[in-house]
Amino acid sequence: MPIYEKLMGNPFVDAGVCGICEWLGRNVQPEQITPADLEQVVDDIAPMMQTDAGWKNLHGVFPNSVLTNAAYRKQDQVELLKKECQGYLNTIVELEHTGDCMGCGRRSTNTWLSRTNIPLTGSGKLRNFYPTFAEGAGYCSACAFAIQLSPLAFVATGGKFLTLHSNSWKALRSWSRVCIDDIRQQQLRQQIIGSYNPGYANPRNGLFYMARTMSQFQEMRTDENITMQVYCFTNYNQGPELEIYYMPAPVFKFLRIVYQSEFKTAWQEIVRSGYLVNWAKVKSEEDYKNRTNRVYENLLRDISILGYFLNRRIRKPRGNWELLSLYLKEIKTMEQTRLEKIKQVGDFIAECIQESGSDRRLVRLERAKSYEACRNVLLYIIRERIKQGAPTPLFSLDDYVEYLFPESEDFTATPWRETRDLLLFRVYEQLHNWLQERGFVEFDEDNASDSNDESFTEQTEED
Ligand SMILES: [Zn+2]
Repeated sequence: MPIYEKLMGNPFVDAGVCGICEWLGRNVQPEQITPADLEQVVDDIAPMMQTDAGWKNLHGVFPNSVLTNAAYRKQDQVELLKKECQGYLNTIVELEHTGDCMGCGRRSTNTWLSRTNIPLTGSGKLRNFYPTFAEGAGYCSACAFAIQLSPLAFVATGGKFLTLHSNSWKALRSWSRVCIDDIRQQQLRQQIIGSYNPGYANPRNGLFYMARTMSQFQEMRTDENITMQVYCFTNYNQGPELEIYYMPAPVFKFLRIVYQSEFKTAWQEIVRSGYLVNWAKVKSEEDYKNRTNRVYENLLRDISILGYFLNRRIRKPRGNWELLSLYLKEIKTMEQTRLEKIKQVGDFIAECIQESGSDRRLVRLERAKSYEACRNVLLYIIRERIKQGAPTPLFSLDDYVEYLFPESEDFTATPWRETRDLLLFRVYEQLHNWLQERGFVEFDEDNASDSNDESFTEQTEED
């Protein structure tokens, strides 16, 4: 039996094992790790993972440890860390079938640890944190060792840390690779700063940044359903904290497809529209990267982001119908037939508006604030199309009931608004240039802010 294996189940152990594997080499798998490998990792990492070298953010992970407690400052902290790790190494055994270790459940506990060595565990004095009033949390040496190296796979975020747990080993490896690549760079530059810090004090934006970066790796080009559970924590003496963000598999899959395709640029535009900022004052990414992003927030909370695909101010879509369809199919599980029907009706409406030479109907559709108003606009368009001698009806009764305004079990879901926005998107896509030529776009596209304040306020007012 090996010492470690993939996905052992404890987020800190998995982070540590991933970090160790990635440090040893891109293709190294947990099952191959030997005690000699672990010794090598300690020899490599210990000189870096200490305050004197520049790794300053360990107080939030291992408070009071040999690396962070002022009492050890006068001693050789690298040696102390090596000694501590050696202590674990001397007693590491291979995985068994069962055991009472809180990290793996596959080996017997042989060390009792507190929050000094295991983030978010109780302190030694308060025994009521531990099962059966034990003197600490019970771990086996192999898991305890792995956790000491877990900061290799943490992302620093505004004084806290993000660590990934996932059902996919490939995802964990990709996350750690991003972190380890940075640490190797720090080592090369001889400028150690500690756990990878991409500068996101807003942890949710940091999570999406990581998802984007991970999507670049070849092994993320997969249909696999990968969920991302990200722990945002600090283990500070004064107030440890924990928040958990959950990125559902369809959202991460959508992001991977988008970031690996030609949709990338359009998607970035949609994401930018989710920041509530005054773009006129923005000089660099630093001015907005930590602001709340509504697109990200909504994706994490399963709220529709359809409104952000529309730039209502300049009557222009963000992205194209294919990108919008991808979002609706992957994340909102909308059926292809419904999408096709709405697209066709949108095309007919665009034709009708263009032939009428006026944007009157479009204005009415844009301003429709109720199901009734929306239906009325469509009724006018039907009449106008008959006048124009259109060969086919705008839609059949079946299309209307099944695809345009399907009954919704959840009354508050108000699908008419979704349908209206989809129709508007298609009309804008077909007619934006024509609307501009005709002077039906009031704002100068180059000067117009691309923030999406209008659609956002409209939604909050109505809902
Ligand atoms: Zn264990």
